[in-house]
Amino acid sequence: METRKVGSHTINIQRFNSVIVGAGAAGMNCAVHLYEFMRDKKVKNPGSRIAVVTRGIGLGASRMSGSDKQTYYKIGTSPNVPDSAVEFSKSLTAAGCCHGDLALAEGINSLREFYHLVQLGVPFPHDPMGSYIGYKTDHDPYERATSAGPKTSRFMSECLQAQAEKYGINIFDDQEVVQLLSIGSGSSKRLTGVVTLDKNKSKGSDFTLNVYLCRNLVLAAGGPGELYETTVYPKGQVGIHGLAFEAGLAAENLTESQFGLASIKFRWNVSGTYMQVVPWIFSTDANGGDEQEFLTRFFPTMSKMATNIFLKGYQWPFDPQKIENLQSSLIDVLVFNETQKGRRVFMDFRQNPVPGLSMKEFDLNDLEQEALTYLTNTGAMQSTPIERLKHMNPLAIDIYKENGIDLYTEPLEIAVCAQHNNGGFAVNRWWESNIPGTFIIGEMAGTHGVKRQGGSALNAGQTGGLRAAEYIVNVYGPDPCDYDDRLIEEQLKICVEKLEKMVSSRSPLMPGKVMKDIRRRMTTSAGHIRQLDDARSALADALGLYRSIESDGFQLGDKADMVDAVLARHLSLASVGYLKAIVTLFSQDSGSRGSHLVLADDGTEIHPDVIDKATGKPLRFKPENTKLRSSILRIEYDSSKSDLFRTTNVEPRPLPTERKAFEPAWRDYIEGKIYSG
Ligand SMILES: Cc1cc2nc3c(=O)[nH]c(=O)nc-3n(C[C@H](O)[C@H](O)[C@H](O)COP(=O)(O)OP(=O)(O)OC[C@H]3O[C@@H](n4cnc5c(N)ncnc54)[C@H](O)[C@@H]3O)c2cc1C
Repeated sequence: METRKVGSHTINIQRFNSVIVGAGAAGMNCAVHLYEFMRDKKVKNPGSRIAVVTRGIGLGASRMSGSDKQTYYKIGTSPNVPDSAVEFSKSLTAAGCCHGDLALAEGINSLREFYHLVQLGVPFPHDPMGSYIGYKTDHDPYERATSAGPKTSRFMSECLQAQAEKYGINIFDDQEVVQLLSIGSGSSKRLTGVVTLDKNKSKGSDFTLNVYLCRNLVLAAGGPGELYETTVYPKGQVGIHGLAFEAGLAAENLTESQFGLASIKFRWNVSGTYMQVVPWIFSTDANGGDEQEFLTRFFPTMSKMATNIFLKGYQWPFDPQKIENLQSSLIDVLVFNETQKGRRVFMDFRQNPVPGLSMKEFDLNDLEQEALTYLTNTGAMQSTPIERLKHMNPLAIDIYKENGIDLYTEPLEIAVCAQHNNGGFAVNRWWESNIPGTFIIGEMAGTHGVKRQGGSALNAGQTGGLRAAEYIVNVYGPDPCDYDDRLIEEQLKICVEKLEKMVSSRSPLMPGKVMKDIRRRMTTSAGHIRQLDDARSALADALGLYRSIESDGFQLGDKADMVDAVLARHLSLASVGYLKAIVTLFSQDSGSRGSHLVLADDGTEIHPDVIDKATGKPLRFKPENTKLRSSILRIEYDSSKSDLFRTTNVEPRPLPTERKAFEPAWRDYIEGKIYSG
């Protein structure tokens, strides 16, 4: 380790071939594959050439999030249902704005990565003949989904971490990324590593910096969960979107965040069996009193209402195209409606849905055919939801018990929460960003389109790590970096000065309050229900906040420290980017799509009884402008612009159709030509 003195700070510097930011399922997988590709090329001590840097090894969505049976979406492995990578990629691209080459790569590599996880010990279930059993997930016409239970992604990252440790890969925990370092400009720009605040050695306004220099940078810092107030992302999942924007990385489809019903005391998705067992859903006042039925008023029969609750299981994300004519996403709208009135909404597994005035009592046999067949086939015809849940998926009960909630004795509070960003930073077919040598994988990469199949995030994260690792080792090679120290020193000096300036006792801004304001603004104006004028004014407010931070910095007060200030600053820039993308998409006349609904006075009625408080008339939404399915909104930071970002539209790249015969394809492989496309 080298050290460098900058002002009064001693900075530790380490050099690697590849640095991966993020220790989730995507980051750890890339580290493991980098090692394996280097080892296969007889590179000495591969582990010492690779570093994983993270703000918390136990943090992030992979470690801390899940659902009733967290899903991994791969090519079908049923012995009697044929599937192919092309069919798979057609499913991924069906709702538009998704690059065909990425979708095909995710299809082709899905089984390789799935079996890689199986080999590492992730307990995906198989039948006596060895078939990995599948089921149907959101937006999935086949049974391609599988699961290792509520904690699939946790098992994935734990197994991958164990392998990374076996390989001797360096893992640096408790490192908060402060800046991405770079050299060069324009097309010769390269990102050369990261500067981190050592969380264990930074207190108040004192800080200790570490530098991890590299030839190849892999960003796997996950989605920007902390952007939202109503969210099921785990606490502390911040991401580094603001820093990546500043470093010059282009993003795509940022508007396409996913929202859905989740429990909020313990953050967990209530998809799958939680809904398929058809629990009672009711609301209370803010103190838990005044219990009320609120769904019954909107459905003509118990059968319709109960079937829609069931369907939320595998139509989990809020989908504006599933609202009209009493479809399942009407439930999300109605839950949101209640919470907007200051009421709280609960699911109760001890009781079946309670009928409204003119409704029949709940009877499982009255469910519509799809629901009844499913419950009959799974033998889940017990008399209460908790018994049905215990029968179908006892682990779904245990996960709440482990987290202090007993579904046998108490109801579960829920809300419509931000859960995932289908968009993210732009990558090519090797998951390389617009800056050569920098790769983006996992949720930080914008590889999904407007909609995605449940489980495809985990597959995309694994595929991205594999592809990036293969390209790095075969094209850029395994050597550590050898940058001229002077180039780095200048940037370190600027970085330290910036951090010192970021704190001023005269500033009116406190990091905690700033983050709270950002979260409230994003949930209100960039959540699942959006409106043009509101988004415009939110963008103006977000910009104003960012500019104040840049000019005045923060006062830390007693509670905050440098880490909070750094986070609040880059989250603030990220929120400007997201809002700019939303406002730009509106200006292209986008309408409601993916997982957000756009309100419009002249649009389609949501339901005659869902009323706009301002006008007393039914709320209406603008349908999707389907022409935009072939146009991806791309956004890049540009400090010369009044709102700091420039946007362009790009066409989705098509599905590659070239297929070579074995011998020429073999030659391309041997000669390394496969990496030139
Ligand atoms: C409740 C819930 C349920 C889900 N269910 C499914 C599902 O069933 N199927 C599916 O495919 N997907 C699902 N997802 C999405 C999926 O879990 C995530 O997209 C995926 O786990 C992301 O993995 P990742 O490795 O990209 O990032 P993460 O696992 O989020 O890891 C990010 C890493 O980066 C680090 N990091 C973050 N910010 C910083 C920073 N500022 N500085 C340094 N390090 C940083 C973190 O500490 C962590 O190590 C779900 C998500 C949620 C929230």
